Amino acid sequence: MIDRCGRNIDYLRISVTDRCNLRCIYCMPEGGLQLVECGRILREEEFVRIARVMAGLGIRKIKLTGGEPLVRGGIPSMVKLLKEIPGIEKVTLTTNGILLGEQMEELARAGLDGLNISLDTLDEDCYYKITRRRNLQGTLEGIREALKYPEITLKVNCVPLGIPEQDLCGVAALAEKDLLHVRFIEMMPIGLGQEFHGMKEEEVIRLLSEQFGPLTPYEGERLGNGPCHYYTVEGFRGKIGFISAISHKFCSECNRIRLTSQGYLKTCLQYTAGRDLRSVLRCGGTDEELRAVILEAISEKPDGHVFLEKAKKDHTEQLCMSQIGG
Ligand code: SAM
Ligand code: SF4
Repeated sequence: MIDRCGRNIDYLRISVTDRCNLRCIYCMPEGGLQLVECGRILREEEFVRIARVMAGLGIRKIKLTGGEPLVRGGIPSMVKLLKEIPGIEKVTLTTNGILLGEQMEELARAGLDGLNISLDTLDEDCYYKITRRRNLQGTLEGIREALKYPEITLKVNCVPLGIPEQDLCGVAALAEKDLLHVRFIEMMPIGLGQEFHGMKEEEVIRLLSEQFGPLTPYEGERLGNGPCHYYTVEGFRGKIGFISAISHKFCSECNRIRLTSQGYLKTCLQYTAGRDLRSVLRCGGTDEELRAVILEAISEKPDGHVFLEKAKKDHTEQLCMSQIGG
């Protein structure tokens, strides 16, 4: 699918649930959010049907996200069904890792291609301060389990908040010890993220190079589907990456669309632009009708975000990241 800006839309992020077992301060309020009624969340076969129609239109890679995707039962089964769709080349998962220990083997058997594990710190108290839960060991166990499957690409994602206890060098050092990539994701002013400044890429690079020596831009084979750019560090087994949506805007290359757990197709993180696919499915719409609605949404995909300017309030997304899927 080529949109009106000439971007090839081939990547779909599916948020399979709005539930989560953590309460990260920049993502979910302490008391949680008003949960979507179960009946309004798409069933496995509905997600798979949409994915099949989208594969026919050119989607090649799918990422499962949430909320926390692994709190929804049956994710290995969904991975397997998505992998069987003609045209779908890669199915990956973004998780906080807590439930990975017990599900990793099944996920690998289902054919999962890649895993992103979110981990902002290796310090127990700081982990609690950020996630409001004492579950660091669960996430670390998830990483250890994932490392047993070298055929599944492993990336650790960290949002630098600018609090020293977070010890970004400690997180980066995971890529020194193990064959995984560590990526720093710039805080985005979405939902609760608006209350935080986070750290810019240049500040993180300065901090890391003081400890590990220079970070050299990586120009080898492309790693993954997205806008991350990577650096090599001498002595490291994995790479260090940066996804800097604000300071290094990449909207002109944006290849992605998002499907919320309720079946709303979102074409830009910042805006509500998109279409409700659930109503098409549940009103007996045919695949042809579904295809037409998806193409309509793509044709209106915004050119890009204007986080640094004042966006028009009425079209700006009010959902939190856990409701969108990141
Ligand atoms: N629960 C899973 C996890 O944490 O990986 C999947 C959903 S979570 C919303 C996906 C990613 O979005 C996480 O890596 C999280 O750190 C990131 N995220 C959440 N809010 C953010 C924000 N305001 N700015 C940048 N990244 C954010
Ligand atoms: Fe949950 Fe992921 Fe949001 Fe943390 S970032 S609250 S783990 S959805």
